[in-house]
Amino acid sequence: MAKEKYVYSFGGGKAEGSKEMRDTLGGKGAGLAEMTNIGIPVPPGFTITTDACVYYFRNDGKYPGGLENEVVAALAGLEKEMGCEFGATENPLLVSVRSGGAVSMPGMMDTVLNIGLNDETVAGLARAMDDERAAWDSYRRFVQMYGDVVLGLRPESDAEVDPFEVTIEKMKKERGVEYDVDLGVEDLKGLVASFKAAVKEKAGKEFPSEPLEQLRGAIDSVFDSWDNPRAVAYRQINGISDDAGTGVNVQAMVFGNTGDDSGTGVAFTRNPATGEPAFYGEYLMNAQGEDVVAGTRTPKPIEKLKEEKPAIYEQLVGASAKLETHFRDLQDIEFTFEKGRLWLLQTRGGKRTGLAALVIAMAMVDEGLINRDEALMMMEPDQLNQLLQPMFDPKAKADALVDGRVIARGLNAGPGAASGLVAFSASRAEAMARDADARAGEGEPEGVILVRLETSPEDIKGMKASAGILTARGGMTSHAALVARQMGKVCVAGCEALDIDYDKRQFEAKGAVVKEGDWLSIDGTTGEVILGRLPTHPSEIVQVLVDETMKPDDSELYRKFAEYMGWADARRRMGVRTNADQPDQSLTAIRFGAEGIGLCRTEHMFFGGGRIDAVRRMILAETEEERRAALAVIEPMQRDDFAGIFEVMAGRPVTIRTLDPPLHEFLPHDDEALAELAGDMGVPAEKLKAKVAELSESNPMLGHRGCRLGVVYPEITEMQARAIFEAAVDCIERGIDVKPEIMIPLVGHVNELADQTRVVRRVYREVADETGVEFEYLVGTMIELPRAALTADEVAREAEFFSFGTNDLTQTCYGLSRDDAGPFLLYYIDHGILKDDPFQTVDAAGVGLLMEIGVERGRATRPDLKVGICGEHGGDPRSIEICDRLGLDYVSCSPYRVPIARLAAAQATIRSEKT
Ligand code: PEP
Ligand code: MG
Repeated sequence: MAKEKYVYSFGGGKAEGSKEMRDTLGGKGAGLAEMTNIGIPVPPGFTITTDACVYYFRNDGKYPGGLENEVVAALAGLEKEMGCEFGATENPLLVSVRSGGAVSMPGMMDTVLNIGLNDETVAGLARAMDDERAAWDSYRRFVQMYGDVVLGLRPESDAEVDPFEVTIEKMKKERGVEYDVDLGVEDLKGLVASFKAAVKEKAGKEFPSEPLEQLRGAIDSVFDSWDNPRAVAYRQINGISDDAGTGVNVQAMVFGNTGDDSGTGVAFTRNPATGEPAFYGEYLMNAQGEDVVAGTRTPKPIEKLKEEKPAIYEQLVGASAKLETHFRDLQDIEFTFEKGRLWLLQTRGGKRTGLAALVIAMAMVDEGLINRDEALMMMEPDQLNQLLQPMFDPKAKADALVDGRVIARGLNAGPGAASGLVAFSASRAEAMARDADARAGEGEPEGVILVRLETSPEDIKGMKASAGILTARGGMTSHAALVARQMGKVCVAGCEALDIDYDKRQFEAKGAVVKEGDWLSIDGTTGEVILGRLPTHPSEIVQVLVDETMKPDDSELYRKFAEYMGWADARRRMGVRTNADQPDQSLTAIRFGAEGIGLCRTEHMFFGGGRIDAVRRMILAETEEERRAALAVIEPMQRDDFAGIFEVMAGRPVTIRTLDPPLHEFLPHDDEALAELAGDMGVPAEKLKAKVAELSESNPMLGHRGCRLGVVYPEITEMQARAIFEAAVDCIERGIDVKPEIMIPLVGHVNELADQTRVVRRVYREVADETGVEFEYLVGTMIELPRAALTADEVAREAEFFSFGTNDLTQTCYGLSRDDAGPFLLYYIDHGILKDDPFQTVDAAGVGLLMEIGVERGRATRPDLKVGICGEHGGDPRSIEICDRLGLDYVSCSPYRVPIARLAAAQATIRSEKT
């Protein structure tokens, strides 16, 4: 067997790896290799594979055999390429060590720069650079970074302070200067000595001076950072596997901090917020990379570089264009120029907003860079959600401006509108969001606006819990901006007018004081910060499609959206339906592209319009006669409901499910409400109370619900079937086409379905005979109990279609109560017991297997059996992919998720054709 290779070198125009080796080299390593191969100026180096990292974790921090030797050999090659030696006292080679997994996790793992410096090599570096200050600045950065990252001095939470930062601040104060760059050589020497003393005190050992020991420590630390809490949290939030490991990139250092003809920056080949095709980015003169990302100095926009360093700018634009064309995607690039020479340090697919994703994908098709399939694959289906997000009501915004409530303006880093209660730390933001959820009950919870000087990767959970993020420092590519965009959060960054005081938990701007818990609004599209709570306005797409307050021709965004969705429709195999039980919801869904109703929950119709009383009478009836009398009151109401839906759906299939709630849910529970109902019904309160007690169940989810109701009280099914069929006749007589599909819920045994089917078919005959109108309809069932899935061959004898009720199927497959699982499921996910919430994403191994068996056995009996899904999973992209693989005919989801499902279904088709 060939010996495993763990190290891949790049440099001098040649690389051992390529962009195809993403899984092995990580995204960054593969990108560096590819850039080298296509002639982009990249500092040479080598990449240690993700397999080595996986080995390291599986073997208690041991390296796989041969890795150490391969590193030494690659380092020797690097020295040769650079013409200088690692650890030499003259012209020493310095290296950076950076992480990089197969899927990018910006800022979550570790990086160490300037490795190889010690009290001797720093003097050699100073001579080589001809700049003593730059050399000592690098040394001071190195000790700080190594101390933080490798030796563990970095504070764990945002409540603690970094000891190095405290020392620097003190020094700056003593010298009376504002910025690090204003500190002189002696100051920097003093800082290095103090930093080393701090390391000794906190880590209990000397700072390592041996370069190879430094390198080994940095590599270990990058491996270890794969498992740090923020990386783990990031992977959880973004559904990235924990098993993949990170690559480690060891690369020759180039210096952006060697004076006024050096600098560093980040750039996007197009605008990542709006998608506009303009080169976009920012940079800092005389600085190293971490200064840009950390947000400690606010960088300059890239256009300034054109004036300041035109030759560098031209080269940079040229290299960027080459990279975008080569990778055929928006690129996010890191660059450094050292004494007038440009180096590209990294390229990767750029994170972007939903808006930018759409605009860029379509523009690249126009430019002939990608085809439509690639454009469809370029967008995360969930990103479409951002395009449907609200914006501030323009009038309220104008009023706020006039009233002087617009107190500051920052960078428009994450578009959208957010109002919420101010929190000054990530942990407070999380707690406040939880409280707001609890207060809101069924309603819309108040949002939280996280306000920070700058955010760091530790804040990720708090950012996720917030509706919007506002920072005082940092640019468009700062951590806050990047992560917010990816999460689809509203973000205003670099808002320097904010004077934030964490101790007092308040900030001041334009004379206004905003305290924790106060309302604040931020507009991530314009960068404005506004006092108080502002009403929001629907997105343009919603205005065109749902509210009809805007004409399609007036919205460029809508036009793009509609065209893109058209591409998706042309590619998807599966149909997309909606879960709706009201005509207005159904209409919204059609406008979002729904092709039918996959689930109309009739019990939802029983609550509104004063019909609850009739329903209660039906439930409390002592005899069939009484029950029929109550049902007779409800029937015309139901008939009108169904006619309304049929009308809106205009000939599209409508799946109507017979009643499925635990009956006691309809009954009042407190004494006062009971007494009132008893009075209305003319029965003694005691009698009513006894009936309620009789109906209450210790396990209602497994109780007298679903088809069990219709089996025991066939008159309920009868009434509903009659209402459906009469509504159908009424529509047909008015020239409206109808396609009713009657669905029986919670079937476990074929006999239950046979019983209910008989009732439905009998009622159809009666209605058809009475009215002389014949029409087609289907009777089918939900597959939402394991037994139904396992005996699907029998069930399919009676069912003309199946629809997977994956909410109940998950509940019963796992034995997890839908209503009670929340808190401990969270714990499970936090602790890695489960990767995903099975109520959000279909559990492929268990529930997915039941579905597979259900489809296979059902179609064995009835080859043309139509199969869909109507559980919440029908709107979840990953579950939609599973549905496609299992051969389902359609998915059904809530109206606002219909576009997401259309795109996810198209992606599933495209992916399945590739394999
Ligand atoms: C289901 O169980 O997946 C389903 C759609 O039915 P409900 O959520 O109404 O129980
Ligand atoms: Mg169900």
